[in-house]
Amino acid sequence: MKIIRANDMGMCFGVRDALKMVDDVADPTKVTIHGELVHNPRVIYQLGVAGFSQSSEEKRDNTPETPQVLITAHGISDRERVRLESSGKELIDTTCPLVRRAHDAAMQLAAEGRHVLLIGKPGHVEVQGIVEDLQSHDVVPSKEAVREYTSKMLGIVCQTTMPSSLLDEIRERISLLNGDADIRFIDTVCHPTKRRQQAILDLIQNVDAVVVVGGKNSNNTRRLAALCEQHGVPALHVECAGELNPNWFDGHEVIGLTAGTSTLDSTITAVETRLASMVVGKTDSNEVSQTPDLSLNSHMPFV
Ligand code: SF4
Repeated sequence: MKIIRANDMGMCFGVRDALKMVDDVADPTKVTIHGELVHNPRVIYQLGVAGFSQSSEEKRDNTPETPQVLITAHGISDRERVRLESSGKELIDTTCPLVRRAHDAAMQLAAEGRHVLLIGKPGHVEVQGIVEDLQSHDVVPSKEAVREYTSKMLGIVCQTTMPSSLLDEIRERISLLNGDADIRFIDTVCHPTKRRQQAILDLIQNVDAVVVVGGKNSNNTRRLAALCEQHGVPALHVECAGELNPNWFDGHEVIGLTAGTSTLDSTITAVETRLASMVVGKTDSNEVSQTPDLSLNSHMPFV
């Protein structure tokens, strides 16, 4: 068995920068993280150990008790920002600049008098943050959800982690059903996502199966796995090395490795180490489950 890494994978600069800012927090007990910092259960666990309070994404409407509130890389709406600041909270803002760019694009389209169509996953925190500031919008997750809109001035933006192929399909459907509308599109898929998607498309040309590493609730990680499956290449989505089952690789000679944008470097290394040991047949499940992929030597040692 041979392992090939994707040319581009793992943590993006937006998540890395957010984690660095978290690492710089002097007193975690004074800070509530507003939603999940990243969609990665291991990171969430570490944050709790370090002393941070965390609001679940469903309970972000509540006002945290701590004096400081940390905004995640997914961003929040201006309306939510005002709500938190007017309740006396000091904000530590780790919003990714490319998410901010998507907010600005949506606001620009709205300022032109357009009904904004945000192509993305309904309820996702990034999507919520963008649409909360818009008067007139629809969130469009699939081409089946596209309809003929009353407004003849339409503006399209997308969630930053949207696969380009799905985006193209949905845009085509919007144009088809709204042939008489003036439609303006601003591409807000972020560059790290585009590079990772291209890297996985390149990778699947040369492998029999792919191991995708990342949180099971990570949208971009799930999309990487789905992309492999769509192209007929089986994908195994794992959160950690301990989930690798050697039997899964029976009959596969060349295994690809990729990871979502919220996956810790240490987790990728642990999975790769386990895969490599399978190649030479030196591992068993006990050995693997002890593979260290968490470190806690400072309060936030992610990067
Ligand atoms: S996935 Fe893209 S938009 Fe999201 S944090 Fe990373 S770089 Fe920023």
